[in-house]
Amino acid sequence: MLKEPLGPVAAFTPWNFPINQIVRKLGAALATGCSFLVKAPEETPASPAALLQAFVDAGIPPGTVGLVFGNPAEISNYLIAHPIIRKVTFTGSTPVGKQLAALAGSHMKRVTMELGGHAPVIVAEDADVALAVKAAGAAKFRNAGQVCISPTRFLVHNSLREEFARTLVKYTEGLKLGDGLAEGTTIGPLANARRLTAMAYVLEDARKKGATVAAGGERVGDSGNFFAPTVLTDVPLDADVFNNEPFGPIAAIRGFDTLEEAIAEANRLPFGLAGYAFTKSIKSAHLLSQKLELGMLWINQPATPSPEMPFGGVKDSGYGSEGGPEALEAYLNTKAVSIMGV
Ligand code: NAD
Repeated sequence: MLKEPLGPVAAFTPWNFPINQIVRKLGAALATGCSFLVKAPEETPASPAALLQAFVDAGIPPGTVGLVFGNPAEISNYLIAHPIIRKVTFTGSTPVGKQLAALAGSHMKRVTMELGGHAPVIVAEDADVALAVKAAGAAKFRNAGQVCISPTRFLVHNSLREEFARTLVKYTEGLKLGDGLAEGTTIGPLANARRLTAMAYVLEDARKKGATVAAGGERVGDSGNFFAPTVLTDVPLDADVFNNEPFGPIAAIRGFDTLEEAIAEANRLPFGLAGYAFTKSIKSAHLLSQKLELGMLWINQPATPSPEMPFGGVKDSGYGSEGGPEALEAYLNTKAVSIMGV
């Protein structure tokens, strides 16, 4: 059996971790012997350019890596259909991912899709509340919530709901919102003014439907795209924030009575990227591991997407993995060879 490089790769990456999103794909492509052309994000062009320049400066053979900017749809239509390209890998939103996967399918190209999420955080009856707030709070407000694995639906056992909400509100009061380059800042701005509009909509919708704003809930200042770290409690199931990825610094809390109920809620949405759970029971930890429809689950800890760990989603969050041995398989063809009579 031979493992052969798939061939030239077309990659499309988002702005939220502009270097990391490329490196996760590029590392595996080069390790398996595939050349690599990336359409990097328009919002953050400089760091991808500096990254690719470092490969050129290091003497990588011409034609091995490349970077392109321009009209995203024109580039993907051209590259995905092009016979030289053998693999398509995309990180970004689910609607764009579905379009590109359909296009790749019509040209029979191998695909990896790392798409949006809507991570549940299950805080069981026997959870350590201080640990849950510290770990999930840090994950929630990292990069101002503009992270695909950002916790969003906080499902808290009713016996702990008030204590959890109070502790999370206190945690947000300890965050320092401001310029990311300024000393002491712990949460920065949103990426653009469109995200501020989106947050305002999510808040208005949640308030209208009966949620309580326990912390934050509004833009801070009138310059820059600063939005206060926000905690919503008693969030109804039909609130927008409980159904669509907010991609911002909003934690939405709901209570539950049984673990089965929490699992059913976690699995209700079409997304299945990351999830978090807090429990002291190994039985509950196993039940959650088996029943949650997710690509990644972290129990009693913050997210730890290390290079050794497969990173990817299920359902509308995509398919394929970056990280772990699976990351290399995604760039390889398996050729079965049987030789007789030599
Ligand atoms: P987006 O889908 O709007 O854009 C992502 C990238 O795709 C951008 O560079 C954009 O220019 C490009 N793009 C858009 N339309 C295209 C087209 N027709 N052809 C080719 N490229 C096209 O997403 P975004 O708002 O920039 O990023 C946020 C989304 O990405 C969120 O949903 C987030 O959850 C998701 N995301 C997923 C992961 C993951 O690993 N699963 C990681 C980070 C972000």
